[in-house]
Formats: sequence, C-alpha cells, structure tokens
Amino acid sequence: MTAETESEARLISVLDTAVDGILVIDDRANILVYNSACERLFGFTPEEAIGQNVGMIMPSAYARSHDRYVETYKATGERKIIGIGREVHARHKDGTEFPVELSVGEARTPQGRQFIGIIRDLRPRKEQEERVRQLQADLVHMARVSAIDEMGAALAHELNQPLTAVMLYLQAGERTLRKGRDARSDEMLSQVMNKAVHEAERAGSIISRMRQFVEKREPNRRRVDLNAIVDEAVDLTLLGIRDKVSVLRRFKSDLPAAFIEPVQIQQIVVNLLRNAVEAVRERPEPVVEIETRAVDGMLQVCVSDNGPGIPPQAMPDLFRAFATSKRSGMGLGLSISRTIAQSHGGELSVDPGGNGRGAKFTLTLQAVTSEDA
Ligand code: ADP
Repeated sequence: MTAETESEARLISVLDTAVDGILVIDDRANILVYNSACERLFGFTPEEAIGQNVGMIMPSAYARSHDRYVETYKATGERKIIGIGREVHARHKDGTEFPVELSVGEARTPQGRQFIGIIRDLRPRKEQEERVRQLQADLVHMARVSAIDEMGAALAHELNQPLTAVMLYLQAGERTLRKGRDARSDEMLSQVMNKAVHEAERAGSIISRMRQFVEKREPNRRRVDLNAIVDEAVDLTLLGIRDKVSVLRRFKSDLPAAFIEPVQIQQIVVNLLRNAVEAVRERPEPVVEIETRAVDGMLQVCVSDNGPGIPPQAMPDLFRAFATSKRSGMGLGLSISRTIAQSHGGELSVDPGGNGRGAKFTLTLQAVTSEDA
C-alpha cells in the first residue's frame, strides 16, 4: 500500500503499530491489507500475501471450509464467525500451525463487501496456562508425598507387622523340618507356608497402595466408582493412624459413576480424614464418619467428626494456604483439596460445627453425564 492521502498514511501507521495481526479480505477472500504484525505472525511478506487467497495462512482443512463459509454467508447471510470471534488455528509460511484468537468484522465499501480480521497469537497465553497447570500438578503431587511422609512412622509399623509374621512362620517351618518329616509335618509346613505367603502379600499390597498414591503421573480423568475410590483412601489413611478411632463408612449403594482423577480425589479424602482423626484425638470416644451420597444429580463425600469443630476466628482463612493450628502442619491440605475439587467442577465446603458438634466437610463432585459417557 502506498499512502496517497494524509488519512491513508495515518491508517497505515496505525495498522503497522498494532501488536495484533490485521487483515482485510474482499468477498472472494483475497487479501487486500496485511499489516506488519501479520508478517511477523505468518512469515509471508506483504508482497507475497496481498492479492492471494487468505487460505494461504490457514491449515488446509480450514482453508477448504473457509471458501465455503464465505459462499454460504454471501448466499444466505449465515454467520459462522463474523462479529463473534473465536479460537482457530493459523498456519505459518514454514507450515507450523498455531492457535490464534480471530475476530472478524464486515465493511460495505464502494468496492463491495470486505472482511476485517484481527488475529492474536495465543501461543504465549497457552504456554503460560501450561506452566501454571504443570506447577499446580507438581504442588498437588508434592502434597501427596508430604502426606505419606507424615504418615511414615505409622506406615513403617504397619509394614513391620506382616514382615515379623513372615519371619515367625518361616522359623516355625524350619523347626518343623528339623524335627524330621512325616505326613503331619508336611501338612503343617504347607499351612505355615500359606500363611507366610499371605502375610508377604499383605506387605506387598501396603507398599503398592503407597506407591500408587505418591506416583507422579499425568492426571487422567476417567469414569470410576466413587465408593471404591473412597474406600481405598480410607484404608490407606487407616494404615497411617495408630490412635483408637472408630471410623464409620456409610456408603450409598448404586451411586452414579464419577468422572474424576482417582488419586487426586483420594488425596482430598486422605486429607479430610487425617484432619478429622487429629481433631478427635482428645475425645473419650472418638468417632469419624465418612459418607457418600447422591444429591440433586451431584455426588457427595462427607467427612464428619465428634471433635471440637472449627473456631469462628479460624474460618476466614481455613482454605487459605499456610493456615494451620498444628505445630507440624503446613496448612496446605485444605487449600489444595479445594483447588482439586474446583478443577473437577466441584466444591469443598465446611460446616464448622462447634458447641459440642464437630466439623463436617462436604466434597461435591459431578456425576457422569450422558455427554461424558
Ligand atoms: P494442616 O493439616 O497442615 O494444618 P489443612 O489445610 O489440612 O492443613 O488444615 C488447616 C487447619 O484447619 C488445621 O490446622 C485445623 O486447625 C483446621 N481443621 C481442619 N480440619 C478440621 C476438623 N475436622 N476439625 C477441626 N479443625 C480442623
């Protein structure tokens, strides 16, 4: 474009100052205006681009539909994008495809209908989002590792039991062998071996449960039975608890399936349960109850206890990171749990109790909809 008038010169400088790509095409989709930002985005010089079909900066599948959109719009007035704006893919001269935000406007000029496209590169935003997602996943994972770390002593004790039992069974077997073999001793040996195998399996299953919990994996949401997931989480937590606490499980049968990342939801349950057990520690008859149910098409997991409840002054910061009343606590559990719940399209709420009532936490999750299925 060469500036013939002052207003044209001004327009060209505006176009070339814009950070976003700005394109104007005619009603046959040929490029009329192509600013400097377009050159940076797409790699074509204005000389290469102007006069060409706009399909040259689109992935080929889009380019084909684009000609059709323009034809349909001209014939019927049906708008696919004009005045709306949306995320689409664009193509660089070197063939790289990348996401852009495209908004399209229309102008009626003496030369006919023209379309103006404003194009924003979405790669920096996507990279930023990916970094935040990765950091969040790392934090969530770190909190799981730290929970297992805190349960360490109790877990070691729990592991020691089956290992001690295996040793005792093996010693008994060895003594039997030394006494000489007959049909009775063979029968006894076989029983002792079976018991030893069973105990070794128990130790193995404790280790594998812990390993699954701390393993670092890409989050993968899937359709699961919530009761089974919660049940496993309760078992894992109980491994790490040596206090005498009655833990009651009230699971609603025939719940609709949940669409979740199982380990992350287990992480919430482990955290709520460990807090509840901690809260009832001083009670003469400590009770923690865990319930699953379906309410208004949503799934709920409630963890309640008969502890002192949450003092009103602790409520405003309860779900904030680093809010803790414990000497060894990091105060991350509830904040991370709520983040996980919300990233699942759910919520974590609390009834603080008090005045003789313990706290009750409710995790709400979406059930699988026919669309997810
Ligand atoms: P942490 O367990 O490391 O302190 P959390 O975020 O899990 O971190 O918990 C924050 C605080 O919330 C706890 O320190 C405790 O004061 C309070 N809290 C959590 N659950 C309960 C409960 N069931 N009863 C009473 N207080 C609770």
